[in-house]
Amino acid sequence: MADFVLLISDWYRLNARELPWRNTKNPYFIWLSEVILQQTRVDQGMNYYLKFIENYPTLNQLADADEEAILKLWQGLGYYSRARNLHKTAQQVRDEFNGAFPKTYHEIIQLKGIGPYTAAAISSFAFDLPHAVVDGNVYRILSRYYGIDEPIDTGKGKKLFQELADSLIPEAEPALFNQAIMEFGAIQCTPNNPDCESCVLNQSCISAFNSDLIKKLPVKKGKTKVRKRYFHYLHIEKGLEIALDQRTGKDVWEKLYEFPLIEREDDTMPLEFKDSASLSYQTKHILSHQHIYAFFYKSDETEIDGLDLKFVEKSQLEDYPIHRLMEKYLESR
Ligand code: SF4
Repeated sequence: MADFVLLISDWYRLNARELPWRNTKNPYFIWLSEVILQQTRVDQGMNYYLKFIENYPTLNQLADADEEAILKLWQGLGYYSRARNLHKTAQQVRDEFNGAFPKTYHEIIQLKGIGPYTAAAISSFAFDLPHAVVDGNVYRILSRYYGIDEPIDTGKGKKLFQELADSLIPEAEPALFNQAIMEFGAIQCTPNNPDCESCVLNQSCISAFNSDLIKKLPVKKGKTKVRKRYFHYLHIEKGLEIALDQRTGKDVWEKLYEFPLIEREDDTMPLEFKDSASLSYQTKHILSHQHIYAFFYKSDETEIDGLDLKFVEKSQLEDYPIHRLMEKYLESR
């Protein structure tokens, strides 16, 4: 066990990538980077991180910002609820903690939208507290190294891996160990092609050079069901204006803007469009739990039965936060 910690920490000292959020103890910056990186590659996340700290250098500035401006800055990252939660949590810290990030794991995890992973990351990186992070990288390394086939997507499995990681984390340098194990997963013990040949753990890792085990671990019990949806959009221009709607309700892309939409159970053109519209673009857009089959029609009509059309200046279209699917369509023009 000591070897694992030692080897992985030494490996990190030699191989760590230089990343801007690694050179700070500012809990706001650390939190921001963690939220951005949750579902994003490091190279893509980097620009967003830099844009956010440039526009909102303090947590209070983020808290005071307009939600729409935050969504606009977030545009292209997807998972927009993360941006909205980021804003709400900043407001909570501003209002309940006088804008100073709380300093204990217990307080941090009470904040809205912050789960065990992010709380452990902030408390160890910013405050040197010994809380182990367990993300996809950590599940992968620990399951392969120790040969654990307990599914990682059950309460029992999560508890087991958290306890194991907690038992490994050294009191002296908790931040270094957390960084090391995540970096090791990102660079060395990767999902599909772990480099066992050059791996410092290959003498003691149960799965080393064993492609069957590597493929099998970590085990996931149930695959999430994917929902198929059919979005039919109408692209209508009227002089210098273009029809645009804001999404409402608890659904994907909440509060973002898009063309007027009719959602159907299938891919056939809605009756409302039949007389006036023609298909100009179609694509399949994949989200984590939904596959969206999108159809974009162009129409010269400025009134369509069943749709309450609202128009905005075409020249101002790029000021509105829009989702990736809309961006894809506009790029295709
Ligand atoms: S030996 Fe291979 S499977 Fe084991 S930790 Fe290293 S890279 Fe991963």
